[in-house]
Amino acid sequence: MVDLQHIVDDLAERASSATERGRVATYIPQLAQVSPKHFGIAIVTQSGEEIVAGDTNVPFSIQSISKVFALTLALDKDGDGLWRRVGREPSGDPFNSIVQLEYEKGVPRNPFINAGALAVADVILSGQSPAGAVAQTLGFLRHVSGDETLQVDQAVAKSELDHGFRNMAMANFMKAHKNLENRPEDTLWVYVQNCAIAMSCRQLARAGRYLAWDGRIGPGGAPVTSSQRARRINALMLTCGHYDGSGEFAFRVGVPGKSGVGGGILAIVPGHASIACWSPGLNEVGNSLLGTEALEELTRRAGWSVFASNP
Ligand code: GLU
Repeated sequence: MVDLQHIVDDLAERASSATERGRVATYIPQLAQVSPKHFGIAIVTQSGEEIVAGDTNVPFSIQSISKVFALTLALDKDGDGLWRRVGREPSGDPFNSIVQLEYEKGVPRNPFINAGALAVADVILSGQSPAGAVAQTLGFLRHVSGDETLQVDQAVAKSELDHGFRNMAMANFMKAHKNLENRPEDTLWVYVQNCAIAMSCRQLARAGRYLAWDGRIGPGGAPVTSSQRARRINALMLTCGHYDGSGEFAFRVGVPGKSGVGGGILAIVPGHASIACWSPGLNEVGNSLLGTEALEELTRRAGWSVFASNP
């Protein structure tokens, strides 16, 4: 029997003494204020038990992890129609790359690069106000995490909007290709608000349960999406969830995962666990350095790689 508490205690202890911690994102100035010293990890298991170590109650900016939840909502709204507007292939490019958009005529490679997430935000926005669209994402996250206190960190959102010229360029470019229905500034606003939602590791691990249990909040729990949809979102997390580091994450950690530049990673072990890890320092491709290392060790010691024949 694997002692998960022992493993996460080890991981937190090792992280506390790590000297190489990566670099905190600075292109969103508010994120640069966060101390690189934080580390937290939270696991929700099949029995609903929560196993935690480190800073698991400190809220952080979930940033691109929000793209997983927004994708769930957009698929529930538009079904397979979404795939006319965004692809399902890894990009092999950085998260904010604009180059592919030009030669692929405004259709982003996948829903987890910024351009793809703008298309997803646009789907959610159509037919409602920007504030309504954000309330829908926040409401979904409150529901799946069972926590009504979740909020958008408006200081982070403002900081990103004040500096979001690349994302604005992508939104305009997609509009020129008729791949945005709404005003680019409204779609960008919705996207940025979603990214600025603040959550702790505990809250995020709870929110990921529906991906670990076929669309249900825990085994036998309330369904929030179909099992096929949960499975497909996991597939996209595995292949595209870490930008141009996605292959490396699959190789080292071996489970679906989605990172954010706030230093969080949501990792899903289908049928076994939903895991949230946070350490703000990033590696060279923008994924949490210590978070990736911790998850690599956790999945190895727990036997959780989806590529192994573990029970
Ligand atoms: N809001 C961030 C951006 O658009 C998200 C990037 C990320 O977390 O990877 O740049």
